[in-house]
Parts: sequence; C-alpha cells; structure tokens
Amino acid sequence: MERSAAHQQIEESVSAHAATFGATSRKIWEYAELGYHEEKSSRLLQEDLRQAGFKVESGVADEPTAFIASYGTGRPVIAILGEFDALPGLSQDTVPERKPLTVFGPGHGCGHNLLGAGAALAAVALREYMEHNHVAGTLRYYGTPAEEGGSGKAYMVRAGLFKDVDVVLHWHPSDRNGVINGGRLAIISAKFDFHGVAAHAALAPERGRSALDAVMLMGNGIEFMREHIPSNSRIHYIVSKGGVAPNVVPDLAELYLMARNPSSVTLNNIWNRIVKIGQGAALMTETTVDVRIINNDSNIVANDVLAAVAQRDLEEVGGYTYTPAERVFAAQLQKSLEDGLAGDLDSTARVSPLRPIDPNIPDASTDTGNVSWNVPTIGFFGATFVPGVSAHTWQAAACAGMSIGRDGMLVAARAIALTGADLFADPKVVADAKVEFKRQLHGRSYESLIPENQKPPLNYRSN
Ligand SMILES: [Zn+2]
Ligand SMILES: [Zn+2]
Repeated sequence: MERSAAHQQIEESVSAHAATFGATSRKIWEYAELGYHEEKSSRLLQEDLRQAGFKVESGVADEPTAFIASYGTGRPVIAILGEFDALPGLSQDTVPERKPLTVFGPGHGCGHNLLGAGAALAAVALREYMEHNHVAGTLRYYGTPAEEGGSGKAYMVRAGLFKDVDVVLHWHPSDRNGVINGGRLAIISAKFDFHGVAAHAALAPERGRSALDAVMLMGNGIEFMREHIPSNSRIHYIVSKGGVAPNVVPDLAELYLMARNPSSVTLNNIWNRIVKIGQGAALMTETTVDVRIINNDSNIVANDVLAAVAQRDLEEVGGYTYTPAERVFAAQLQKSLEDGLAGDLDSTARVSPLRPIDPNIPDASTDTGNVSWNVPTIGFFGATFVPGVSAHTWQAAACAGMSIGRDGMLVAARAIALTGADLFADPKVVADAKVEFKRQLHGRSYESLIPENQKPPLNYRSN
C-alpha cells in the first residue's frame, strides 16, 4: 500500500475512535489515582484495549496496575507506552482559575490521563490498520504505572518485559507539538534515615545524639558540594521527619532527596558523593544512617533515525487551532501565568522543528529514560496545555480535563500511529534504528541504582 493511502486509513481510524478515548481520558482524569494505586484507570484502559481486539496480561513485573496488551505475531515488535498516574495536591476543576475539586486532593497535573488514553487510541488505530492490511508483526501497549516518582518502568525493564521489543514509541502532554528525541534529566531519589538517641533536651542533652543535627549537617554538606558539581545538576531535598517535640532530642530524622543531571553517568558520580556526605553527617553526630533508594531513572537516549521518521509524520499530522470557546478559556488561563510566560495561542497549529537537545536547558525526568537505554525509543509532545503552561501545575490539570487536552492528545495519537505504521512497513528503518541505538550508547550500558532485590515501592508516597 502506498504511504499516503496507508496514512489516510490510519488517520480515519484515529478519528473514528477519538470520542471513545476522549471519554476514557476524561474518566481517568476524574479518577485521579496516585502511582501504583491506579486500579480504576488501569482497568478501564485494559477493558478498552481488550474490546478493540488486544490480548491483555495484567499485574506484570510485580506491579498490580501494570499490564501489557498485545496484538499480532512475529517481528518487528513495536511497543507504545501508556501512563495514567496523577499527582498529589493538584486537584483542579476545568476552569481557568484555581479551583480544586477536592482540597489537597490528587489531580492530573502532568496530563497522564491523556497520555494513557492517547497512546491506547494510537494502538487501536494501528491494530485496525494491521488487521485490514494483513501487516505482519507484533504491536504492544505497555500500561506503565507510577511514572511520577515510582519508577514503574524501571521494574518493567528489570523484569525483562522489553527484551524482545524492536522500537518503543511514546508521547507526553506539553504546551507544544514536537518530537522528543533524547533529553530529560537522569534522577535518583532516596530517603536518608538517621537514628540517634533520644534525651531530655534541657535536663540531659549530653545523653542525646540528635538525628535532626545529622539531617541539618547533611543539608549543609550538600550546599557546600553544589559548587563542585556540574552546574546543570539539580539537588533538592526536604526534611521529611525532623523530630516530634523541641524538648526531646530527636532519635529519628529523615532527609528526602532528589538529585538530577542530564547524564546518568555524571549523576551516578554525584550520588556516590551524596552518600558520603550522609555518612559524614552520621559520623559527626554519632548517629547511624540508612539509605533507601526510592527511584532511579535514566536520561532519554536519542535516536536520530527514528526522530527523522517521527518528525516527518508529525508534520504530516500538523497541529490544531482552538475553537472560539477554547480561545477564551486559554486567554483567561494565561492571565494566571507570570508576566512573559504566556505563549502564542496560534502556536498549537505548528510543529516545533527538530533540534539537538541543549544539556543546559531546565528539564524534568521520566522513567521512560530507563526504557530508552534498552530499546530504540522515540516520542512526541502534543499541545495539550495552553502555551506557556508547564506540567505539574493546576493550569495543566485544568487543560487535561477539557477539550484542549483532548485536541493535543489527538495530535500525538495520530503521529504515534503513523510512525508505527511506517516501522511495520519498512524493516530497514527498524534495522537502522538499532545501529543508531548502539552509536548513541557508544559502549555504555544501562545501569540502575535500584537495589537488585528491591520490589516496586507500591506505597512510596506514604512511607
Ligand atoms: Zn510529571
Ligand atoms: Zn508526566
């Protein structure tokens, strides 16, 4: 089949299922379930995919809400990633001013309701195309829990679930349309539990050994180290436990820390120094320290071969323009942004050009990085957030629950499905992508700092 005819068929299939998956995205937005607790969201996506003709295996990699939906047989194996977890504290109505639906409740401030539903829509359209045209190969949808700090995908990688995958496709909500080729910061997060000796803080402080002192000294040590690490690093921490009363020397205190760098390799070196600072703080205060790694995600490995295909397909899809009502909403929402941050409302109609990643630009992290170190990977941004709105904000949560979010989701779903079809159609692109994958790694291999025997931290937000 000719390229344009194939693409037309896929675009029609996406359009035919757009309402169904728009409704799914809205339901997941309403569920707003936190990482590893996405029971309803995961079940809904599994049900949608099963009804569309996929075989579903759930509870994979010791993660109750993880699943793999698959269709077809043989090679190539093309996988699409879907996420569906919400963020704490970002509950928000679909209105252009701050209005939580539940005060302090969770909300979809990263748009993962769109991410999971849009990826499923792409998979369903691609499956229809494969069936109608007797396309050989295997299509999989990976339902990946707890992206927000739970490293859901790291455990799925460790369980070997990506071993036979040839190419991974993904997307993420954004305030623009573009291709994700590399970038994102490698991250490690950990809790440093210091144990001291409790004592009366006035009557007998000399008998006490303060775990809080250790936490504060560790913080100071990190501040002094900051000067001597690459300036594109990020280290942020909170005192997650600091004692129970000022008149009791705290025998337990906890520092909860995250560290990031564009390179996993550089981050590992910084991490080793952070651990030494923790040990030094314990030595100074005659306390002991336990280090618990909560998550560890790699940066995304770029793939220029796949990026070229993805960019071409995304440009073919193009962006979208706001309806008059959406424009009013968007302009109103932008008033809540800091001066100078509001972007051009017409930019949703455009596709960003493909540019090399600037390693000094501020960035976030994703557990998709872990996958990209193991399988050639390429992704898309869809303009689901009003231009100027960043992820992890109430503004993003508002957009994710209404039509602007769904418009951006459709851009991404179309682009993923088209690129998937191109990969099934041309084994040479898949082969070239593998050569490019090796070139990008130049001899390095994936390394996870998560201890080998550690199970997925199903309650990582509460302990
Ligand atoms: Zn996020
Ligand atoms: Zn996200």
